[in-house]
Amino acid sequence: MKKIAILPGDGIGQEIVAEAVKVLECLRADFGLTIEMEQGLVGGTAYDATGKPLPGETLKLVKDADSILLGAVGGTKWESLEIAVRPEKGLLGLRAELELFANLRPAILYPQLAQASTLQADVVSGLDLMIVRELTGGIYFGQPRGIRTLDNGERQGYNTLVYSESEIERIARVAFDIAMKRDRKLCSVDKANVLECTELWREIVMTVAKDYPEVELSHMYVDNAAMQLVRAPKQFDVMVTSNMFGDILSDCAAMLTGSIGMLPSASLDKNGKGMYEPIHGSAPDIAGQGIANPLATILSVAMMLRYSLNEPDMAVYIEKAVGSVLDQGLRTPDIYSEGSTKATSKVGTAQMGDAVVAALRTK
Ligand code: NAD
Repeated sequence: MKKIAILPGDGIGQEIVAEAVKVLECLRADFGLTIEMEQGLVGGTAYDATGKPLPGETLKLVKDADSILLGAVGGTKWESLEIAVRPEKGLLGLRAELELFANLRPAILYPQLAQASTLQADVVSGLDLMIVRELTGGIYFGQPRGIRTLDNGERQGYNTLVYSESEIERIARVAFDIAMKRDRKLCSVDKANVLECTELWREIVMTVAKDYPEVELSHMYVDNAAMQLVRAPKQFDVMVTSNMFGDILSDCAAMLTGSIGMLPSASLDKNGKGMYEPIHGSAPDIAGQGIANPLATILSVAMMLRYSLNEPDMAVYIEKAVGSVLDQGLRTPDIYSEGSTKATSKVGTAQMGDAVVAALRTK
């Protein structure tokens, strides 16, 4: 029996996770998936209930679990809190406590949604790229950090970009392993011309490459990578990069696919235990309206089945069910395009989740 911790979090997190849970319930009832699920609090909702964005009870729950499904955290309500108790601290705390150092962010363009992309269809159609982002190191965690007052009375903000050899090596190995299962092309993104830390990054990636002679390794500066992602994204198969560069590039890659509401992610530890979540945030602008797209969260369940629960067939069932509801023309507002040549209908969060479950049942 596998134990799954369910952490809906804040804003639309509550709505989209409810749909993903319906999919898990369906797999349990109809496909023999042996799981138990337990819900916990994280983010602003946890702060409101306990004064902490990551309560001890939640930490215990996730440590005991085999994998974790997370919605999203954050919202305007908590923006004025001091940083130490802001919802985002709950998320960073989860990643650090569980040592989830490898963040896998696929960007796949479903052919049914080619029109939703802001880029021309021929530039993006068939896009299938995987960004591997380092998640527990780099400038988001480096010390010293803060805002200090200089002798002249002026305030100065500072953060530290830091990576050790072992941190670079382990993320590089994850990326090479994934490249081996795909088209065997890996692009390492850095800023080695300016930042010594990423000069070391490049050196270590090249050392690890010696163990993967079948993978074609290239290097790109992050500014060029951002440009190339928009100019000709299909040149990439797998990209590996640091925490901050990966944060930015993966959102850019997300938009190539038309909607941030379509993209799942996985964050893994060294044993393959993972936390699965959509790449988007809590979308306070649409929270509570029942119109958020639940597909990124549902596809996160597929990644969970593939990477942590060793049920790759069930992962494929979910991905096919998502393809099927798109074929049926069902669209949440974020992926609905006016004037589409295909007959489409606008649906809400729950209707989309129900349609995926119905498609799963007819598998
Ligand atoms: P966001 O991803 O929440 O929203 C960006 C835009 O995308 C919004 O217009 C939103 O309506 C839309 N959007 C996002 N997910 C959608 C979905 N499933 N369906 C339809 N539309 C969707 O980013 P933001 O507005 O910059 O941040 C809002 C809050 O979320 C902030 O508090 C931020 O800190 C937090 N955040 C959390 C995470 C996380 O939990 N992993 C990630 C990013 C941002």
